[in-house]
Amino acid sequence: MRGGLACLLAAVWISVAAGQSAAPPCSSCSEWNRPQKPFRILGNTYYVGPHGLSSVLITSDAGHVLIDGGLPESTGQIVANIRALGFRIEDVKLILNSHVHFDHAGGIAELQKLSGARVIASEWSGAVMRKGGVGRGDPQFGALTPIAPVKNVHELRDGESFRVGAIVMTSHLTPGHTPGGTSWTWKSCEAQICRDMVYADSLTPVAAAGFQFTKSREYPRALDDFEKSFTFLETVPCDVLVTTHPEASGLWDRVEARERRVTPDPMVDSGACRRLAERGREQLRQRLADEESRKLH
Ligand SMILES: [Zn+2]
Repeated sequence: MRGGLACLLAAVWISVAAGQSAAPPCSSCSEWNRPQKPFRILGNTYYVGPHGLSSVLITSDAGHVLIDGGLPESTGQIVANIRALGFRIEDVKLILNSHVHFDHAGGIAELQKLSGARVIASEWSGAVMRKGGVGRGDPQFGALTPIAPVKNVHELRDGESFRVGAIVMTSHLTPGHTPGGTSWTWKSCEAQICRDMVYADSLTPVAAAGFQFTKSREYPRALDDFEKSFTFLETVPCDVLVTTHPEASGLWDRVEARERRVTPDPMVDSGACRRLAERGREQLRQRLADEESRKLH
């Protein structure tokens, strides 16, 4: 699968680049930032990101919610996509984030400035946002492009819900990929059927050279964190899944099936979160086996 390969390539590239002191160039960024026509995912939920980095808009008469801001160079596209759907960035009241890497949080500083929105983040992610840069304890520390500092960041508690008009967004801490990873759930309705929507954070065990998930002084609870996140995905009510990298949940296959008028709606797949957890568990198993074999040689 393309997404899996991209993750794998990213992991290899990061391992090679981690010894450098300056942030490495981003070989995937132009592909991630390829323009994408915005579209309705379901009900009041829309895809507004570039092709390779999800950004999701949830709308209401009293204002909107935006999840993730792509790269710094994605913001023009995100704003134009919101406008193309007939909405305005100025009406975004809340900006949420999955994790504070430059490819999902890099555009948030600018989007916050344009909208004046409140930014909601976990304690760990919020601390990184306020200062900018890369957080200590991040498995990819030393191999990441730093993010710009973000204003108006509000800290969430695990399970806390946030309202904008009729929209209720609930936070779920899903750490592992970073110590502050967060997934989001809400409901969107179409033809009087309301669906459980899930925006799942990345759960790939990608790390800079030298980092070990089995014993990291900076991130000692990494394995427990992954377990918490897998359990969340295995148990959360999940009709429509969107992941930070859209291909990781087969979004483009679903869009294509929809264009072929496949019924029932291929966007709805109640097994998607469990399958994502299964794949995450397998990736972590492989990563730990690699760490073990490196120790032995
Ligand atoms: Zn990441």
